[in-house]
Amino acid sequence: MAYKALTVDTLPERLKGVAALAAQVGDDATAWQVQEVGDGNLNLVFIVTGPGGKAIVKQALPYVRLVGDSWPLPLYRAYFEYHALTRQAARDPGSVPSVYHFDEAQALIIMEFLAPHVILRRKLIAGERVAGLAEFLGRYCARTAFRGSELSMQRPDKKADVALFAGNVEIPAITEALVFTDPYFDAEMNSHTEGLEPVIARLRADVGLKVKVQQALQRFVSNTETMVHGDLHSGSIMSTDSDSRVIDPEFVQYGPMGFDIGMLCANFLMAYFSQPAHRGSDLAAYQAWILGVIADTCSIFETEFRHLWATERTGILFPASLFEDQDHDSSPACDAVSAGLWRDAWAVCGIEMHRRCLSLAHNADFEDIADASVRAPLEARNLLMGAELIHTADTLADAMAVCALARDYN
Ligand code: ADP
Ligand code: MG
Ligand code: MG
Ligand code: MG
Repeated sequence: MAYKALTVDTLPERLKGVAALAAQVGDDATAWQVQEVGDGNLNLVFIVTGPGGKAIVKQALPYVRLVGDSWPLPLYRAYFEYHALTRQAARDPGSVPSVYHFDEAQALIIMEFLAPHVILRRKLIAGERVAGLAEFLGRYCARTAFRGSELSMQRPDKKADVALFAGNVEIPAITEALVFTDPYFDAEMNSHTEGLEPVIARLRADVGLKVKVQQALQRFVSNTETMVHGDLHSGSIMSTDSDSRVIDPEFVQYGPMGFDIGMLCANFLMAYFSQPAHRGSDLAAYQAWILGVIADTCSIFETEFRHLWATERTGILFPASLFEDQDHDSSPACDAVSAGLWRDAWAVCGIEMHRRCLSLAHNADFEDIADASVRAPLEARNLLMGAELIHTADTLADAMAVCALARDYN
């Protein structure tokens, strides 16, 4: 059958023959209940509930859901999301929902229903803490960065993978435009909170800043050092109070090792800057918790990356024949790789802080602040710190320095 978007009414009839779904929810499709819960910008997401349990059915639409059919988008993103999920599961077991079934023609993935997980961004807006969050995210970012690179992978596998994901053309194009370019000119789909005009004018007048951003874009499009999630914001993480998973890798591509952790830190920083509008007497303590998550995520990333460097360096890069086998410590080499990775990460971090307030697809941390006169000054702090991160990405000592900067701008 040719591609056709599912509806809550047609799903049971159309998917009743999929054994992998019946195995999760029960054989009797007439007893299935279907709910559409997609709150993202792009796809249909259904929860199917049957006598045997629940499953998620995610189906790509041939256009951008947020905008409508005036902006077509290829269905093939489901294919890349599926292949990303299998690699993430291999590189960091347990980090992503289990995949039960993939149908390329229908652009649909049937996967594990995460419960009682909720989107991390909602928890951050509500002031809830998640135990083990930094450990999970630091390890996830380090393992996927390391194990998807030539530090670990064999050459033929890496080249085949880069070739496979290079077929994902239109989805990274969204990042290239919305993240790296649109914030810095008067792009058609941009929007911003009233009152930010002077700050925006300052960013666009800063030629040095635009050069750094375009250099970051140059690395993003041409550096294929590892498989990145590509959209690792707090809306792509689901958590309980003590367990977390990463979802929604349709923006997958081979790209810079620092990309995911940089975007992730930006989303924690935006949660931090938005908190004065969401919290009462617990504001200081909760903001401190968020900065602690940033610092811990980055230090756990470092620890895990170094552990993998010492124990899993099986690729062509920095071989033992050049270091350990000649009785040379390779940790200075690891230091150099790590330093380059963080330079990329902090630039991406600052750019992500810009685009979420200036381009299409803003984040709820700020959008949920109804009063523009409250929202604008908080977004302004975020924009100005973003610019400083982009300018100083090459010289920032570490995540502690980034947290100190956030306290200065707050
Ligand atoms: P999009 O690509 O459109 O952003 P997402 O994969 O982010 O779609 O999913 C949209 C929403 O559906 C998520 O915010 C979450 O609420 C819900 N969702 C997605 N995957 C799962 C899952 N495996 N378990 C439970 N809920 C999910
Ligand atoms: Mg999403
Ligand atoms: Mg998505
Ligand atoms: Mg906004």
